[in-house]
Amino acid sequence: MSENSEKQLIVVKVGSNVLTRADQKPNVTNMSALVDQMARLHAYGHRIVLVSSGAVACGRGVIQPARQLDSVAERQLYSSIGQIRLINLYNQLFGSYGIPIGQVLTQKDNFASRTACLNQKSCILTMLDNGVIPVLNENDTASLTELMFTDNDELSGLMATMLGADKLVILSNVDGIYTGAPDAPGSELIRRVTPGEDLRDFVQQTKSGYGRGGMGTKCHIARMVAAEGVEVVIARGNRPDVLVDVVEHPDRVPHTLFEAAPRCEGAAAVTSFLDYPLE
Ligand code: GLU
Repeated sequence: MSENSEKQLIVVKVGSNVLTRADQKPNVTNMSALVDQMARLHAYGHRIVLVSSGAVACGRGVIQPARQLDSVAERQLYSSIGQIRLINLYNQLFGSYGIPIGQVLTQKDNFASRTACLNQKSCILTMLDNGVIPVLNENDTASLTELMFTDNDELSGLMATMLGADKLVILSNVDGIYTGAPDAPGSELIRRVTPGEDLRDFVQQTKSGYGRGGMGTKCHIARMVAAEGVEVVIARGNRPDVLVDVVEHPDRVPHTLFEAAPRCEGAAAVTSFLDYPLE
């Protein structure tokens, strides 16, 4: 059993850069290592919700469109192909541990009203109550560009807030937020961020690789989610045992922790993400 006796509800967000190789094929090595760790956390009694990017990136490596496509058609085409591959891989990998997974493809409209939000929340909680790991992504074939999530960092932040999760773990291709560019001389990893602390001077607005988000949005989302009482961790997804360590032995792994502000419970808990009370 786990050393940390407190059982947590943990939303894990994995970015396209962690899940896709340079040749745009799924990075099965990273996926498999992360599934092994989620299976361990699941066995320890933690409840896991996975938000996985990578559909568009996985689809891109499969076909060459017959003619030049605009960005919307491109996203729809690639995600339609890539999402199946992604979920099939997860199904095989979690299946080897006997853990059932369920696919939830969602859109921003599903957070737009209290009714839609509660419906989605009860779907995820029913899955968890039945030992199923929900695997979420944006429904990229149907989302309207102007109404999309900024990226899956935003989706995972909304999900963690809506579920009242204990922790949101955002896995990226760097160890966390640095005081400058991660590889610049003298740049240091920021280990702890207190609620409300301003990091604008530090955060790189550039983004790398395949995903839509960058460190700027990660940081913005992390601050908002932490302000709602959910602890947020940003860490590097391909570090061995990163996920188990951030939950069970946080001192063993480099990461940035956004401390959770005290939670505002009950009907008064109108979050800045969701403009209506959820209770
Ligand atoms: N939903 C997109 C995909 O699966 C990822 C969006 C993002 O990069 O955050 O490809």
